[in-house]
Amino acid sequence: MVFDELYIVGSIALDDIATPSMSASRLLGGSATYSSVFASQLAPTSIIGIVGNDFPNAGYELFKNHNINTDFLELANGKTFSWGGKYHNDFNFRDTLFTDLGVFESYSPTISFPNRPQTIILLANISPDLQMTIVDQCPSEYLIAEDTMNLWIDIAKEKLLQVIKKADVLFINKEEALSLSEASNLQEAARFLLSIGPSSIIIKLGSDGALYTSIDKTISINVCSNISVLDPTGAGDAFAGGFLGSLVKNGMDIDLALKYGTASAAIAITSFGADQLIHLSLDTINSYIPKIK
Ligand code: AMP
Repeated sequence: MVFDELYIVGSIALDDIATPSMSASRLLGGSATYSSVFASQLAPTSIIGIVGNDFPNAGYELFKNHNINTDFLELANGKTFSWGGKYHNDFNFRDTLFTDLGVFESYSPTISFPNRPQTIILLANISPDLQMTIVDQCPSEYLIAEDTMNLWIDIAKEKLLQVIKKADVLFINKEEALSLSEASNLQEAARFLLSIGPSSIIIKLGSDGALYTSIDKTISINVCSNISVLDPTGAGDAFAGGFLGSLVKNGMDIDLALKYGTASAAIAITSFGADQLIHLSLDTINSYIPKIK
C-alpha cells in the first residue's frame, strides 16, 4: 500500500500540567496537536478540529511553521478544550484533574474528504462520537487509525467499540488495553482487540516501549536511552504521528514506522508542552532513531 497524505482529527488543547518538579498552565497541547506536529515532518498533514477564541497565536504559529493544513480548523466563540494532568513520581502514572471539552462539546464537522484511496486518517484521542462522525464521512478506502483514552472507555465504551470495529490500526496504552478487553495479560488483550476488527494493534507501554501485534506478527520495540523526561504528555500522540507519517514517507515497513513512533515519543517527553516543538525537524527525529535501545 502506498499512502500520500494524512488527516488527523483530535483534541487541540490548552493543558495544565504538574510533574513532581514542575508545573505550568495553559500549555499548548491536545492529541491532534502533538500527532500532527510529528506526522507533518514526514507527510503532508491536515488537522481537523476546533479552537475557541482564547487559542493563542503560538498555536497557529506552530501549525503554520510545520506546514500543517489548517483549512479544517474551526474557530468558535467559546473556550478551547482544556485538560489538567498530574504525574506521579513514576511518570508511567498520572491523574486527570479535569477535562473541559469547551468548544468540542458541540463540534460536529462536515468535511469533504478527497476520494483518494492513498489517504490515512488518524482518529486521535477525542470522543468516540466525534470519531464516528468522521469515519462516517471518509471514503471506505482510507486507512483508519484510532487512538483513545481511559475517559472514553469509562463513559462511552459501547460507542468506542463501534469505532474500533471500523479501524485498521489501533493505538492504545497498556492499562486501557487491559481494561477494555478485561484480559489478564497483553497477548490476550491484543488478541481480543484484533478480534473486534483492526488488523494491527499497537500497545504503548510507557517506559517499556511498545508492542505491535497483527494476525501473523508480533514486534516489541524499546524506548530511546539517555532521555531526560520533563513532561510525558503527548508521548502517545507523538508516537501515532511518527508511526503513521512513516507509513506515508517510507511505505509499509512496520519496523521502521515503530522506530519513527518511538523517536517521536522520546522527543515529545523532553519538553514541557507542545509550544517547544516549534523548531522540530525531520533531522531531529532521525537523530533519535539510533538511541533506541
Ligand atoms: P497523551 O499523553 O499522549 O495521552 O496525550 C495527552 C494529550 O491529550 C494532552 O495534551 C491533552 O490535552 C489531551 N487529552 C487529555 N484528555 C483527553 C480526552 N479525554 N480527549 C481528548 N484529548 C485529551
